Formats: sequence, structure tokens, C-alpha cells
Amino acid sequence: MVESNADKLSRKEEITLVKYASQLTQTIREPLLILDDNLCIIGATANFISGFKVDDTLINGISIFKLNKEQLNLPDFREVLKKVLDTEQAVNKKTLSVKFPQKGRKEISVNVSPLWSPVDRKLLLVSFKKLKGINKISKQEIVFNRIFENILSKAPAAICALRGPKHVFELANENYMKLLGHRDIIGKTVKEAVPEVNNQGFIELLDKVYETGEPHIGNETQIRLKVGENEFKNSFLNFVYQPTRNHKGKIDGIFAHVIDVTEQVEARKALENSEQRLREVIDAVPAIIWITNTKAQTVYLNKNWYSYTGQDRDAAEGMGWLDATHPEDRKQTEFAFLEGHNQKKAYSMSFRLRNKKGEYRWVLDKGSPKFDANGNYEGMIGTVVDVHEERNKENLVREKDHRLQGIVKEATVATAIYTGRDMHIELANDAMIELWGKDKSVIGTPLHEALPELDGQPFLDLLRNVLDTGEIYWGKEDKVDLMIDGKMQTGYYNFTYKPLRDKKGDIYGILNMAIDVTDSVTSKMLLKESEFHFRQMADLMPGMVSKTNEKGSDIYFNKNWLDFTGKGITDLKDIGWVHYIHPDEKDNFLKAWEDCLGTGCNLEMQLRLKNKEGKYIWHLSRCEAVKEDDGSVKMWIAVNTEIDKIKEEEKRKEEFLKMVSHELKTPVTSIKGYVQLLLSLIKKQKELEASKLPLKPSLERINHQVTRLTRLISEILDLSRIRENQLELKKEGFNLNELVKETIQDINYTNTQHKISLESDVQCHVLADRDRIGQVIINFVMNAIKYSPGSEDVNVKITQEDEHRVRVCVKDFGIGIGQENYKKIFKRFYRVGVKSEETYSGFGIGLYLANEIIERHNGEIQLKSELGEGSEFSFILNTTQVTS
Ligand code: ADP
Repeated sequence: MVESNADKLSRKEEITLVKYASQLTQTIREPLLILDDNLCIIGATANFISGFKVDDTLINGISIFKLNKEQLNLPDFREVLKKVLDTEQAVNKKTLSVKFPQKGRKEISVNVSPLWSPVDRKLLLVSFKKLKGINKISKQEIVFNRIFENILSKAPAAICALRGPKHVFELANENYMKLLGHRDIIGKTVKEAVPEVNNQGFIELLDKVYETGEPHIGNETQIRLKVGENEFKNSFLNFVYQPTRNHKGKIDGIFAHVIDVTEQVEARKALENSEQRLREVIDAVPAIIWITNTKAQTVYLNKNWYSYTGQDRDAAEGMGWLDATHPEDRKQTEFAFLEGHNQKKAYSMSFRLRNKKGEYRWVLDKGSPKFDANGNYEGMIGTVVDVHEERNKENLVREKDHRLQGIVKEATVATAIYTGRDMHIELANDAMIELWGKDKSVIGTPLHEALPELDGQPFLDLLRNVLDTGEIYWGKEDKVDLMIDGKMQTGYYNFTYKPLRDKKGDIYGILNMAIDVTDSVTSKMLLKESEFHFRQMADLMPGMVSKTNEKGSDIYFNKNWLDFTGKGITDLKDIGWVHYIHPDEKDNFLKAWEDCLGTGCNLEMQLRLKNKEGKYIWHLSRCEAVKEDDGSVKMWIAVNTEIDKIKEEEKRKEEFLKMVSHELKTPVTSIKGYVQLLLSLIKKQKELEASKLPLKPSLERINHQVTRLTRLISEILDLSRIRENQLELKKEGFNLNELVKETIQDINYTNTQHKISLESDVQCHVLADRDRIGQVIINFVMNAIKYSPGSEDVNVKITQEDEHRVRVCVKDFGIGIGQENYKKIFKRFYRVGVKSEETYSGFGIGLYLANEIIERHNGEIQLKSELGEGSEFSFILNTTQVTS
């Protein structure tokens, strides 16, 4: 038995030990016992007494095994205690099965460690595992807990007890002795025993604890201790100085608990150093590096971040780095960053980062999750790289690409891109889809599937050929049959198949651009057709038809022209038809033709054209302009109709008339002579008058008719004279007023129904052909009578036109003349209306002659008339003398 081997303590020694033990235990809350080397209890903490429910009055001096009806008399426990006594080494966490009267058997963990006491006896410190949990604990409790933790569980803990204000070593455990190099310290003051600490602040600390009663906790405090002759060692200590009190509560010593943490501190320092070195390396990397914790908070950013952004550590760490991102990118970046952390997956994001100059530049931020050696997630580590230039280039390319696609899409020219051998429709704009008569679903399909109707048409082969040869294909008005709205429709297109090459120059596709020219092709076809019709028609026409361009160059001659000239079409084009015009008419024609080309007016002319036998044939030549919608001349069509026969006939007629007139003139003149002779004889022979024979009226009638006949004959003669340019004027000076008066009197002589008034403002003399001017006056007055059957009045007026001219005006109130006939009535043989021929006799030559006569006198004929209102014919002549 252990206790039987122990020596008995002297009473004094016993008292000292018990006092010592009570000092140690009084402030300690843990269940704790102090045993002497006989394994008898010399001290117990309050918690032991309450926890094990023992009588505190009976406890001191009692063997541990006898306590509480030998509650702790357990073989394991005995063994532990013996081992500690024998080896002087602590035993920790020994589990004992202890029986409690009410709670039953409980497992209890026990720590036992040796203690050095003031008397030369060994003591044992026995602690039991806490019986209740610690919730809210005070600072003091922490201190106590630490002490006991160390006392109970840590062999390396160095413990000593110091007594009195001078801090005399009273007790020290093996580790404490080891710490001081096993010096002889018990009974000595700290100053004496460990002189090297004098200037290291420990004495002062002990003094302070002793004075104030406040425990002191030192953390990793450096101490320099002597370890040999002139040999010192720096150690780092975690320690607690705890004041101890006597039974009166007065401080009488200090309990020191020291743990040598030199190794840890050095290891940490080494780690810190290596970490520092690592940071230096990281800082030297030419990229921004960041490290986050598990909560996505940035805990480290290398130097490059700060120099790039100009942020400082406080601003950047946590989530502060986001402040340097572009406001437009911030939200997305934050989201991606947090998402990456939440999912513990690699994160990558491109955003704009503000540099210290305040410019935003594109950066690429990439992070990967970080795991420790055990595979626990620790956060992320990542890099930020400036990719501004690349990104800008990329943007430019993308923008270009986008713009190109946009242009293609918007383009009105139908455009499509095919790729691969099966002509996959990569892109087709709206115009192309409309041209195909399909919808957008064809995009992405091979061309032969999208447009199956191309089977049998040459286009797929053409496309493949472009792909193989790289040669562009130009389609010009190519005919394409497409299925549009369920119907096969034929269209004509101008298009290109252009190879598209990649960077290496390899052909990867074809660009197809097409323009629908169906309308123009069809109209061209129609034009060709109508041109053909025109030629056919022109050939069938009896006249000679030719066509010239807008500038007057000949481009076409019909068959009749070729027959007429005996030339081929090209020769005739070279020579030009003008060459065939008779020299007498050529100049006039060319002049008129030039006018037409300038004005675009039509031309009509009679001219002679030379036939292949060299004979000139009369033609009526008409050139008419074919005009565009805007009025400009497109071309000219000239038709030459042969009028040679008509001309000859007319000539023969005129010759016949001339001859007849001549033949008639002699007998009529002699008849007129005899009639007038007879009339004068009757005047004298009154008996004849009395005989009641109607001789006189008959003769007067004959005379009147003969006068008309004479006039008619002379008119017809004048007509042919004019044709032959042989009308000669016999000018003489005479009084025009008198001529007018005489003429009216003559007419009045034969005309009884109409009242012809004469009014004259002036008396004037003229130099003119008296008979011919008389002829004009007769024509005007006779017409006034003839064409006013419903009215009796004819007014003749002589007025002064201007200083040297006189006007003779004949006004009637008859049928009048429509404006459209103003000019025509002065032409040969022209008479208004066919029916009127029956009503009003005449040949239509009077006004023609009148006009010719007045023009040859350098005078002028004027006409004012309205249909149904009457007419006013006047002529104006130059005067030689005018009197009023
Ligand atoms: P004619 O009288 O013999 O037919 P003219 O040369 O004298 O021939 O006249 C030509 C035409 O002019 C006539 O046929 C007639 O239709 C028209 N005309 C001439 N004078 C008048 C007039 N005073 N009133 C109405 N019509 C007239």
C-alpha cells in the first residue's frame, strides 16, 4: 500500500503543507485535491467538496482511498497515483468509473501532477473533469481555468509559487525548474535566483500584481534566460501571475503559471517570414492578384491593385474593390463574383476598371476556389489582367460584324450567304426572302431544301463551281423559275455569286446578291416585239417610212425605201435619205428639218426624191416626233408619200382651165361688147321701148351674167399666172375713195336687195394696180352679200390706219366664220363646209387671189369674224397722200 510506505510528517510540516494546499485551492473552482506523498488529503477545492458531497470538516488528513466510503478506492486510480509518485511525471486524462450514491456510476477524467512543496516532501495535485459546463465566465475565471487546464492537462506548463513582496520562490514544478536550467531557486527571491531578468520588466510586473491583486496575463512575452556560462537563450512565454491570499484575504504571494511557447512563436515567425516572402513574390507578379475568404471578402490584394486603381487598403478590402468598377458593370460583376464564391466554382468576368488617372479600362478578372490540405474551402484566389486593347479590337470587329450584318439585313438588294458544299443558307435578308417567295424558316437549311424548284436549273452547279474555282459568277438577266405563292413563276435576275474567303484565304462560302430585272427584261421583250410589229407594219405601208434617232441620224428604212433607192439598209443609213431630195427643195428641207430638231415640231413638205432610175418623183414628206413622257424627243418617224401623179393631174387641170379660159375670153368679150351696143341702141330707140318687148331687162341680165363670167375667167387666168409667177401689177396713182365708191355703185347696179353703205374718214391716194385692188374690193363686198342671206346691211369704211396707211373695211352681219377657218379660207379652192356649196355658189379662189394681190402690194389682209355674228374683212395699203 502506498500510504504504509510513507514516512510520518512532523506536525509543523503538516501545518505548513495544509496551509500551502489551502492557498492553492481556495481560489480554484475546479474539483481539485492536493495529496501528500502518503496520499492523504491536505487540501480540497470547494467544488470538490460540493461535487463529491463530502464533509469538509473530515476531509483533511484522510487517505484519498478512504474518502466517502472508499468512493475513490479504485485500482486504476491507485496505479496512477503510484506512477506519478514514482516517476514524478504527470498523468493526464485517466478515465475512472466512480459510483455516486444518487446519480449512480459516472465516468470521470482525472489528471495527476507532482508538486514541489516548501518542505522537502512531494505533493500530488489531482484534478477531476469538470462536473458542470461553463457558460458566462469572467476574466478571472478564464485565468483560473487556464491555470487549471495547464495544471491538469499540460505537462509542459511551468508552475511556481512566490511568497511575500520580494517574491521568494516557494514552490516550482519540474517544468519550471527545467525552464530555469534546474537552478537552486527555492527560498530565494526572484531577483537573486534569476538575476538576468532584472531588467526585463518581470519583477515590476510581479510587484504590480502583488500590490494591486490584479492578475497579469502575458502573451508571447520574450524573456532572456541564462542557460550556461555566459550563455543566454531567448524564449517566448505565455504566463499568468495570479496573486494568492492568506486566510484574512490579504495578498501574500503570487502563483505563476508559465508555458514556453518559443517553438510556436518561432515557427509562426518563420511562417510569417515565408508569408512575407510569398507576398513579395506575389507583388512582383505582373498582374493583379487577390485573395478572398469564404465569405467572399477580399482579404488580400497585391501591390499591383493599389498602383493600378490608386485605392488604399482600407478602401479596397472587403467588397471595397467594387467601387473601382464601372457603375454600369458593377452589379453584374458583384453578382458573378458572389455566385462564384457561393458555388465554390471558378469565376471569370470582364468589366471596366477605373485606373488611378480616372480612366476606365477593360480588365479580365478570373478566380479559382482555394482548398486547404484537408479539402476545406478557404475562399478564392484570382487575377485581374488589363485586356483593354484586345477588347477594343474585339469590339471593333464585333461592331463591324454587327454593322455588316445590319447593312446586309437592311439592304434593299437581295443578299444571302451560303456556306459549305450543301450551300447552307447562313444569312438571307428580307429582300432575298421576298425574292424567293419563302419565309424566314429557310435560314439555316441547305439551299436545295429551301428552294427545291432549283432542281433541274443550273444554279446549284454554278454555286459549286464558284466554291471549287473561286471565280465570281455574274448572272445577267438570267431566267430563274421560282415557286412563289404555290405557283411556278419565271423571273429574270442580275446577280453575283462571289466566293467568301477566311483569313487563310480558303473559300468557306458564297455571297449572293441579286436584283430582279424581270420588268425591264419583259418590257425589252415587249419592245422587241413591238419593234418587230412596227417594222412589219412599216414594210406593209405604201409610203416610204424611215426612223431617225433623236439627233436626226437614220436608224431604219422600210422596204419601200430600199426598193425606191435600190440600196441596202446599211448603205442607205450611210448615205442618208436627204441625199435623194431634189436640189431645188433640199435647202428648204434642211432648214426646216434643223428647226424641227431644235423645237420638236413636226414637219410637212412637198419635195422630189430621186429614185433608183435617177428620176425625181414628187412626195409629201412628213416627219413626226415620237416623244417620251417628259416631252423630250425619243425618235423621228418620217413618211414620204408619193404625190407625183396628183401633182401632174393638178398641173394638167390648171393647163386645161387656162386654155378654156383663154378660149372663153374672146367669145365672152365679144358677146359683152354686142350686148352693151344693143343696150345703148335701145336707149335711143324709144319705140322699141314702147313695143313692150322685154328686150332691155333681158339684155341687162345677159350683161350681168357676162360680167360675172368675165370676172371668173380673169380670176382663173390670174390663178395660173400666180402659179407660174407671171402675175404682173400695173401700178398707178389714184384716189382709193373714188375706186371704192365706183365699185360699190357697180355692184349696186346689179344688186338690189342689200344696202351697201360707205363711210370714209379720209381721202387718200395710193400707188397701186387699180383693177386688181378693185377686184379685191369686189370680192370682199360680193362675199359680204353672198354670206349674209338674213341681213341687208353691208358697211364699207375707209379709215386711216396710221400716218402712211389706209384701211378699207367691209363688214357684214351674215353667217360668220369659225376661228379654225380663218387661215384656211385664204387657200386655193377652200370653201367652208360641203353643204354650203349648194347654198353658196363659188370656187374658193376669190380670197386666195385677194390675199396674193394685197401681199404683192406689201399690204395686209385682216379678218374679224364670229360664227353667226357676221364678218369684217379689211385690207391695209400704203398711201401716197392722205387728206381728211
Ligand atoms: P367663194 O366665195 O367663191 O367660195 P372665196 O375665196 O371668196 O370663195 O371665199 C372662200 C370662202 O370663205 C367662202 O367659200 C366662204 O365660205 C368664206 N367667206 C368668204 N367671205 C365670207 C363672208 N363675208 N362671210 C362668211 N363666209 C365668207
